[in-house]
Amino acid sequence: MIQPLRLLLCALLLAGPALSQAQSTTSSSAAAASAATAPDPSRITLVIHGGAGTITRALMTPEKEKAYQDALNQALDAGYAVLKGGGTSVDAVEAAIRVMEDSPLFNAGKGAVFTHDGRNEMDAAIMDGRTLAAGSVAGVTVVRNPVRAARAVMEQSEHVLLTGAGAEQFAREKQLDIVSPSYFYTEARHQQLEAALAGERKAGTPDQLNAPSATPGKSKGKRKGGKAQGGKAQGGKAQGAVLPEEQIFTEGKKYGTVGAVALDQFGNLAAATSTGGMTNKRYGRVGDAPIIGAGTYADNQSCAVSCTGWGEYFLRATVARDVAARVEFASQPLPQAAQATIDKVAKLGGDGGLIAVDRQGNIAMPFNSEGMYRAYIRATGERKVQIYKAD
Ligand code: ASP
Repeated sequence: MIQPLRLLLCALLLAGPALSQAQSTTSSSAAAASAATAPDPSRITLVIHGGAGTITRALMTPEKEKAYQDALNQALDAGYAVLKGGGTSVDAVEAAIRVMEDSPLFNAGKGAVFTHDGRNEMDAAIMDGRTLAAGSVAGVTVVRNPVRAARAVMEQSEHVLLTGAGAEQFAREKQLDIVSPSYFYTEARHQQLEAALAGERKAGTPDQLNAPSATPGKSKGKRKGGKAQGGKAQGGKAQGAVLPEEQIFTEGKKYGTVGAVALDQFGNLAAATSTGGMTNKRYGRVGDAPIIGAGTYADNQSCAVSCTGWGEYFLRATVARDVAARVEFASQPLPQAAQATIDKVAKLGGDGGLIAVDRQGNIAMPFNSEGMYRAYIRATGERKVQIYKAD
């Protein structure tokens, strides 16, 4: 009896410091955060994006342009109302994202792109820069607002990332809005899938999106296939063909992912991202959006970041964390840090963009694609909605 008791005592003594260390880390960062949290409504800032890609005036009609501007303004209004009312950055980014998830214009929630099998599989993430708490879901098919599920994971589970059926079961248990998979159907997105599949048939390389055999070379608008990995061409079976991948990416990224980053009056940052991924994706593919540090990141020590673009490249470059690390460790100003990271993505051969905000309310919205739906609003009333590179 004495021996087990001794063992228990030893275990408690050993575990004690570890447990209290974990707790003190939490409470000291909370204390650090609250030390600088005298409410200051003049600093509130919200930045959103609705995806980057081949967005040019030539491809746009005045009606379409107006529809996007209206939707972005609605999302800004929803998030800003939260901030203005004294709400938190986490509430604000969720509110802004939900508006865009409910709009068929964006590749998130209603309007998500289709997988190879004709399904809508969505990913989302949210992160609280005050505590570094984070939550995400991947491959969900019946959750009306994936960002809500991500937030529930962050706040009501001991996990960070839940996938597929498990994430859906969790969402049901948390009584989130569950819809039929058909809710996410839109004709335009389905046509994009049809076009991508037709491109595959024409090229005769049905597995091209995932084949590890082609050159990933980069030349604007003339991507020569293979999956989004660096390295040398091994087989070259698809060389010279107009590959479905190019089309898939062009179509899939034209009306992309949505994201939001915010600074609230308490000086706290938050980021969230939601997406349907990329048209014709298969095998349960997951992109950067729900991966903390790749597509989404927020830390009061540096900045909040949400990305959009070809997820495989953003995953490899751990884009969101890369921006934050430049700010935190190299003391780079936010716009410079954000641009340097997007340049890194470009160097790998990827394209896309990001939005970011820091605790001083500095913002950055760099992208290396032709356009990016983006908008911001500040407490001063300054508001801007932009689409094209020249805006
Ligand atoms: N980054 C997203 C993904 O790869 C796509 C997008 O931004 O539109 O899943």
